[in-house]
Amino acid sequence: MAEYVIAPPSPPVVPVEGEQGGFPVRRILCVGRNYAAHRREMGGDDRDPPFFFAKPADAIVPPGHDPAYPPGTANLHHEIELVVAIGEAGTDVPVDRALELVLGYAVGVDLTRRDIQNAAREKGQPWDASKGFDDSAPISAIRRWSGPAPQGRIALSVNGAVRQDAVVADMLWNVAEIIAQASQLWTLRPGDLIYTGTPEGVGPLVRGDRVTGEVAGVGAIAFTVT
Ligand code: MN
Repeated sequence: MAEYVIAPPSPPVVPVEGEQGGFPVRRILCVGRNYAAHRREMGGDDRDPPFFFAKPADAIVPPGHDPAYPPGTANLHHEIELVVAIGEAGTDVPVDRALELVLGYAVGVDLTRRDIQNAAREKGQPWDASKGFDDSAPISAIRRWSGPAPQGRIALSVNGAVRQDAVVADMLWNVAEIIAQASQLWTLRPGDLIYTGTPEGVGPLVRGDRVTGEVAGVGAIAFTVT
């Protein structure tokens, strides 16, 4: 007898720079409002702490692939983000041990149906349809990393025009604090990705837009909205 009644899905895979093997994605956590200037542009209160939401693993768009413009929105937004790739499991990890869970970093874009998100916020409804749709998580290759987390420039351009330009050091929760906080809410396991939040300058994308982004020292991302 077959083990499954349908073919089990294969895990999404993100390449790791310079290696044959890829990183199988288990889960995608995301941090909301982790840069003060972006929190302000979203209308947030300066005292609101960052928070978590999630995307399904199969929202990943690996490098070399282009996301499709999603149905159900007239206001698709870009959010450039540093992404943490988790390589070791941990629960209730203290901040000073948190970076030991890191396998590496990548550059990601948290694509957002801003119109659906705004409507959900007003009604107190969940964000899944605004954040967790197909092709909503483009990502670069992962760069293996040990030691202090990236701190440098994070930037995104659309058709060559700079839209977002900030530094990772401006995050409200730094990488170690994000991992520590997340590990109090979930057991982190190898294969987890954490999108760490976007700086100010988010804005709309239309079909045909060429999106390029970078995090200094980590890598670059490029895709066309199809
Ligand atoms: Mn985001």
